[in-house]
Amino acid sequence: MTLIGLEVHGYLDTKEKLFCNCSTWGEKPNTAICPICTAQPGSKPMLPNKEAIKKAVQIGLMLNTKINTDDKKTLIWQRKHYNWPDLPKGYQNTLSGTYAVPIGEKGKFLGIRIRELHLEEDPAAWNPETGEIDYNRSGLPLIEIVTEPDFTSSEQVAEWLKKLIITLSYIKAIKKLSGIKADVNVNIKGKSERAEIKNMHSISDIIKAIEYELKRHEKERPKLKETRRWDAEKNITESMRSKESQADYRFISDPDFPAIKISKKEVEKIKNNLPETPEEKLRKLVKKHKLDEKDAKILTKNLELVELVEELSKYIDVKKHISWITIELLRVLNYNKKTLDEIEIEAKHIGELIKEVASGGMTELKAKQIMNEFVPKSFSIKDKKDISKTPGNEIKNICIRVIKENPKAVQDYKNGEEKSLNFLIGKVMSLSNRRADYKATRKELLNLMK
Ligand SMILES: [Zn+2]
Repeated sequence: MTLIGLEVHGYLDTKEKLFCNCSTWGEKPNTAICPICTAQPGSKPMLPNKEAIKKAVQIGLMLNTKINTDDKKTLIWQRKHYNWPDLPKGYQNTLSGTYAVPIGEKGKFLGIRIRELHLEEDPAAWNPETGEIDYNRSGLPLIEIVTEPDFTSSEQVAEWLKKLIITLSYIKAIKKLSGIKADVNVNIKGKSERAEIKNMHSISDIIKAIEYELKRHEKERPKLKETRRWDAEKNITESMRSKESQADYRFISDPDFPAIKISKKEVEKIKNNLPETPEEKLRKLVKKHKLDEKDAKILTKNLELVELVEELSKYIDVKKHISWITIELLRVLNYNKKTLDEIEIEAKHIGELIKEVASGGMTELKAKQIMNEFVPKSFSIKDKKDISKTPGNEIKNICIRVIKENPKAVQDYKNGEEKSLNFLIGKVMSLSNRRADYKATRKELLNLMK
């Protein structure tokens, strides 16, 4: 039987680092640093960032873990020792390890058991090619989610990870742009010992690495635990080292910190203020806003999109006009290679536009063109001139002109070529700047070519 487990790491979305006031974002290397996160002699860490602990608890609750509150267990920071250029202190502060109590444990998320969830600091970024080290990353708060080996296939892992990432984005606890990093462990029960594949940054790499390992385990039946790395260029895994036992890290409790105390009351408060999950939003879109499940599923992949539709429902009947969002807006975003949080778009402006089309004041074509102009910032159509429909007599004049200027297409149409009519309609559309009503134009042209 195939057993697959995951360790997922993500950067918590906080303003400051875990043990100092440095910003979690620096434009250039080594600009968001201080004596603490570069481990200068004599520097002592500050108390851990409360925002990071709160976000870790939020994630723990979202994954249905039991939060270790101070009436039951005490959380003590550990020093995890190893020697590497990216680690100036010579150890990493973590809530994981042999004697550590995790923030949350024994949870379940979409059928997969969560073993534990802990908080730790990130080391610096070291470039082995150049030897350069960027300490901006040193001390960033990282969350680590460890599952039990409950997955049985790579497809199941991919599906679950996608849903996990969307769910975490709903609580805005994880830095979206920096993505996630995952370690995967694989073995076949009774046939092979566990291999851990480290540091993969994309779901497609994770799938490929699992597939590769499963084949290797079937064939080679490895008898020793081992840590491997994924080579994304060669599409293979390679041995890094035989799996070190935990004692290699010489975990000890860190005397620089008092124990972390998370009170039951605090957890209760965070629980009561948890945002809605994607499943809850989906139910709301279907029940309250009467959307089809298919459309609702498209929307819930992205929290900003759901929030936009919820806001839009104040202005228009969203069920009736949902294709303006699920088709038109997504088309515009794709074309511009932008996500909703990268542009400034107001539901009020989209509402105005859709209303204008619905009331017959504007053509769909014109509205689509205006929608294109909503990137990077939407505006009120009340401030735009020359956007309303072309009046009937003007359409007639344009049609007469088009017929006059395109005698060949007219002749072709009369000889039975249907597509020449579309060509002529297109000409009217462009001369009217997309403001001529399609049906009225078609009727007028047919009439004039009788
Ligand atoms: Zn710092």
